[in-house]
Amino acid sequence: MNTPLWLQTCANRVLGQDPHLRRHVLLLLITLQPYAVSVGVILHSEHLKLLAPDVARELIAASAATFLTMFVLVRSGWSQRFADPVLTFPHALITIALCMAAYVQLGDNRGNVMILIAQTIVLSMFRLKPIQVLMLGVFTVITLGACVGWTAVMHDSHTHASSGWTHFVVGGSTLLTLSLIGKWVSDIRVRIGRQARELQEAVDTVKQMATSDMLTGALNRRMMTELAENELKLIERSGAPMCIALIDIDHFKHVNDHFGHHAGDAVLRSMAQHAQGQIRQVDKFSRWGGEEFLVMLPSISAVEGMNAIERLRQSVERLEIPGYPQLHVTFSAGVAQAKVGESLEQLIERADEALYEAKRQGRNRSLLAQTELKSSNASAASSSEAMS
Ligand code: GH3
Ligand code: MG
Ligand code: MG
Repeated sequence: MNTPLWLQTCANRVLGQDPHLRRHVLLLLITLQPYAVSVGVILHSEHLKLLAPDVARELIAASAATFLTMFVLVRSGWSQRFADPVLTFPHALITIALCMAAYVQLGDNRGNVMILIAQTIVLSMFRLKPIQVLMLGVFTVITLGACVGWTAVMHDSHTHASSGWTHFVVGGSTLLTLSLIGKWVSDIRVRIGRQARELQEAVDTVKQMATSDMLTGALNRRMMTELAENELKLIERSGAPMCIALIDIDHFKHVNDHFGHHAGDAVLRSMAQHAQGQIRQVDKFSRWGGEEFLVMLPSISAVEGMNAIERLRQSVERLEIPGYPQLHVTFSAGVAQAKVGESLEQLIERADEALYEAKRQGRNRSLLAQTELKSSNASAASSSEAMS
């Protein structure tokens, strides 16, 4: 069922548009219920002549002012700077102080105040830190003791004083126990929140490890295989061009032998980082294994693919390796444009043959792959030779 437009407009006005803000304002609005109940208790007490009309008005005005102030602070977004933008802790403290003011005034109706305080503690325990819930309990007991003492002094009657001390012992201990339970609930909530965060971090790490290469941060072979196979399926339907390039660093063994394995690792990292900055957003760069990288260039023809890889090759000639200023590397590449119906394996094999040829011709160059596999020609030739 669709929400009527007028209701949506009203909700947007009251709660705001930002989802976080809306949630915070909604949480604050929940406290309207105890406010409404307290106003009811005050009016009822006034009706029973337990409370003077001007005191009743003052208590209602103080409650309304507290709620409105909280509403303005939360709704304006001012409170977003705090860890708890709903301002639960100061709000609960002020509410309990207000309850205590009412307790002193309410005469025989003051037992209701205990229920309102209990409600404040229960509502708060789901947002406060464990220590804050405990602080609320202690604050309640101290202020209740002070109010009971105050009423005992003000009303000089023995029954009044003894009912006050009964409130203090029964109400105070119940509210303190409630705040201890609240602390325990809050402890569990904090622990579950922490475990959920740790679990999410672990899931993120596992995802990262499953899709990217540890050393270079580039996509790993498994992820690239998945992406390239999907892309091949797509172009089979759309007929759009797509290229891949198999890149192999020249004389990399020499880098390791002369500069050490760390230098080799630094080259691989720099190369991956640099290449990812050079290619388009839609292109995918992966570490295919050792010092070999596979680049996928969707929606690009063979000529455009060659140009892109040539630009990359020329920029790598000037690439500086952090910590190794005297070290420069080059790469050779085989570029192949996918043919309709061709498998990823066949496409890579053609790129690999072009790469092999680039190495054979002296390295530091990129070559476009033949449209037919030489190896399959060779095997076809050898099988026809065998047959003849
Ligand atoms: P070519 O120009 O023909 O490609 O020669 P090359 O020396 O680059 O090729 P070769 O296959 O002989 O050597 C590749 C070297 O790459 C061998 C291997 O020890 C090194 N290698 C593979 N993986 C890593 C790595 O993760 N870190 C480092 N530092 N070296 C690696
Ligand atoms: Mg190699
Ligand atoms: Mg190499």
